[in-house]
Amino acid sequence: QAKERGRNTYQFFTEQRDGKMERRLNLEHGLRKALNNNELFLVYQPQVELCTRKIIGVETLLRWNKEDEGIVSPVDFIPIAEETGLIIPIGEWVLKNACLQGAVWHKKGFSELTISVNISVRQLLDESFIDRVEAILSEAEFPPSLLELEITESTTMESMEETLPVLHRLREKGMKISIDDFGTGYSSLTYLRKLPVDTLKIDKMFIDDILTDSKSGAIVKTIIDMGQNLGFHVIAEGIESAEQVDSLLENGCLCGQGYYLYKPHKADEIENHLEKNMVIS
Ligand code: C2E
Ligand code: MG
Ligand code: MG
Ligand code: MG
Repeated sequence: QAKERGRNTYQFFTEQRDGKMERRLNLEHGLRKALNNNELFLVYQPQVELCTRKIIGVETLLRWNKEDEGIVSPVDFIPIAEETGLIIPIGEWVLKNACLQGAVWHKKGFSELTISVNISVRQLLDESFIDRVEAILSEAEFPPSLLELEITESTTMESMEETLPVLHRLREKGMKISIDDFGTGYSSLTYLRKLPVDTLKIDKMFIDDILTDSKSGAIVKTIIDMGQNLGFHVIAEGIESAEQVDSLLENGCLCGQGYYLYKPHKADEIENHLEKNMVIS
């Protein structure tokens, strides 16, 4: 009996593992065709000035409408794209389409709207990355100063020596750099001092607990003060309530992003919000 149970448990685990392997292979296989099959599309989530609710920028978020399956979360497919190297062509597609959209909005008079794009460290370390971004910007006729590249804290710090010169060059060319999910990685203050960065994005995890956990509140306050003292813009991610906005404002945080303010939407819907929300200058 015990032996049988042991075998069953073993079987259960192998089946579970095989299931995961199969799922991964299925995603990988699908991802290889996703670009050509036109299954990828972009949504944009507004970033606002908290005191006026004015939209100051949008973050580009990738979506995959997988054949026979529907929407797959980037949380599930971005890591596979990174591991397989598919993030290089996919990331380039994202950048190109985000800049083209940015240029459309720019020409429509939303002349200060920034476009943020998430960049994997694998892209950053690709030797042709800087040239490619520059080519994309000039083809799209989108000003580099309105393109903000979001890089996650943990991965950038891991390969600091290689990424640092790339970040410097991107900034020399006028682009902005922001550190995504700030507070979840292990950036030391030494690194922060050296990082060529414009913006810190406080991770949602801290915003979630800002009202209920005094330590999270203190961490948020500390990040805001430190970021501003170092000359960075600070933006709070994942704001889901009016109370969180109030608390952030009290703590001197000027900008935010989250479902309470706006959810990510396709470009045309975003454009409606822009027209309602932003003073055309
Ligand atoms: P991220 O860059 O930190 O993006 C923020 C994520 O939080 C987005 O999820 C967004 O929809 C979600 N979010 C924003 N506000 C709220 C809120 O108030 N509540 C909740 N629950 N969620 C909120 P999404 O679109 O699923 O993206 C997840 C992650 O996938 C991104 O995290 C980013 O790391 C990655 N990703 C998305 N698009 C791209 C891309 O084009 N390239 C790369 N390399 N990574 C991408
Ligand atoms: Mg991001
Ligand atoms: Mg984030
Ligand atoms: Mg995140």
